[in-house]
Amino acid sequence: MPTPSKAGTLKSDHQEIRLSGMGVSRGIAIGGIYRHDAEALTVPEYRIAPSKILQEKARLTKAVDLATLQVQDLRSKVEGMKGAAQEEVGYLLEAYGQMFHSSRLIRGVVARIETDRVNAEAAISYEIEGIAQTFEAMEDAYLSARVLDIRDMGRRLLLNLTNPGKDVFAHAPNNCIICADELTPSETALLDPKRTAAIATSLGGAESHTAIMARSLGIPAVLGLANFFPKLRSGALAIIDGSKGLMILNPTQETLDEYRKMRADFLRARRSLTRLKDLPATTVDSARVSMNANIELPSEVESVLSAGAEGIGLFRTEFQYMNRDDLPSEDEQFTVLSGLIRAMGGRILTIRTLDVGGDKLASSLSIHAGPNPALGLRAVRLCLSRPELMRTQLTAILRASALGPVRILIPMVCNAEEISTVRGMVADIADELRRRLIPVASPLPPVGIMIEIPGAALNADALAWRSDFFSIGTNDLTQYTLAIDRSDEAVAHLYNPLHPAVLRLIQFSAQAALRARIPVSVCGEMAGDPRYTALLLGLGIRDLSMSASNIPVVKRRIRELNMMEATHRAQVIMDQFESTRIGQLVDEFNDGPS
Ligand code: PEP
Ligand code: MG
Repeated sequence: MPTPSKAGTLKSDHQEIRLSGMGVSRGIAIGGIYRHDAEALTVPEYRIAPSKILQEKARLTKAVDLATLQVQDLRSKVEGMKGAAQEEVGYLLEAYGQMFHSSRLIRGVVARIETDRVNAEAAISYEIEGIAQTFEAMEDAYLSARVLDIRDMGRRLLLNLTNPGKDVFAHAPNNCIICADELTPSETALLDPKRTAAIATSLGGAESHTAIMARSLGIPAVLGLANFFPKLRSGALAIIDGSKGLMILNPTQETLDEYRKMRADFLRARRSLTRLKDLPATTVDSARVSMNANIELPSEVESVLSAGAEGIGLFRTEFQYMNRDDLPSEDEQFTVLSGLIRAMGGRILTIRTLDVGGDKLASSLSIHAGPNPALGLRAVRLCLSRPELMRTQLTAILRASALGPVRILIPMVCNAEEISTVRGMVADIADELRRRLIPVASPLPPVGIMIEIPGAALNADALAWRSDFFSIGTNDLTQYTLAIDRSDEAVAHLYNPLHPAVLRLIQFSAQAALRARIPVSVCGEMAGDPRYTALLLGLGIRDLSMSASNIPVVKRRIRELNMMEATHRAQVIMDQFESTRIGQLVDEFNDGPS
């Protein structure tokens, strides 16, 4: 895992500008800058056939519903404001909320769709212009202020209509460095690794899903580059050093030569690791470790196989729900899963049920994020509050289970009842499928849980009795144990999985799984960082799941390790109470002879 350096340090050298941030995905890129301005909005305009009018009005309703939720969200945030500010902004938002319901704006847009037969985006633009002109002509200070509100609401609707499903990087040139203030996980999922040289942003933490996705796709990335956006010129040449967390603007010839050589060395070293592909992950004293891959997108299966993964330990299914207006149907999910099962050729596929919420928002779900999205209605809580969502996904998984080995993994479990409810649903759906003579695996797929909430880790013994396996999600476990937002660069330097409290929870969960004789793996980012390999093995973990690109380096570390020594070192570490000392002991062990 990268060590965050102090973000935003600026050093100028013969016009070459060096910016420091957090290196979150290794590798070196040299390419042209592509500024991705999330605020820029192009409004498509086209005629629609009479048969499409209903569909177009449904698109508008969906965008309006989403905007209503967004305004509700803003209102709950405003509740925390003080005195007059709360009152004023509160009134304004209430007025905004009303504007979305049978207001002149919405009625006018619907009329334009019906009579002018134009798409919803064009209808909104025309209607806003129409209203704005009428208000402006009245020369009234109050009404001209309302024009701004109406434009703002129109813009929100347009964003809701145009963003989902659109490839926002369609115009990015080949081999470019995507630069943005912030990239959401859903935007990152749209990046084509063959065309994207690197990513650079001002916001985002090392364990954010944007960072995880960059690592999975093998795209070098530097996040947390404070105030860098105004310094960028689209098309200008730049260098990204994802290992050191550096962005170099206007590089001199000397710097370019140096980095071209470093890039060639990096690629050579990576290629040489592929020699390990078919060798087992066995320590020098013959302890065997299972190496699995995490994937976000089905297209990653190729790199999973070429990295020599034994199976998929975590398929983050939420990306199927992103960048689109509608929800994936049961058949569509079944098709994706059966493709993956076929490609994996008998190796296990662990399918995590929908884990949206927090920093992973899916436009198709219109989630009300609430005042604190990380603690809100997300993951299994969301799915159980919208059972049709869970039912559709479980049905697709159970149908696919007849085609090859799968496991079901439930995210963000906190209570034993959540496991029982999901298990009950799995059993009911399987009965129903069998009644309809649709094949389902027999026995049914194992149902396991993510251990990523401190309360779940502390209650691991009880949860183990209702689970077929544990998968420890150290990303969220660290976030919730230390109260550090994993995607916030301002606190990234405090995010540390080596905190004794996090390690105790990992150890406690692993021991609970061993006591209950169920398999336990680690699938958080800790699993993919060779710095932590000896410690995790020493704590009793024998199954690791990580981005395919990390499998070779972790396997190399396992093959040079002595399990007995790692176990002894882990015992010494567990007696410590300071993260700094723990870090030293971890590094000494990694650097010393083994
Ligand atoms: C985790 O929390 O460690 C995990 C693997 O899940 P995600 O990163 O998708 O939240
Ligand atoms: Mg998680």
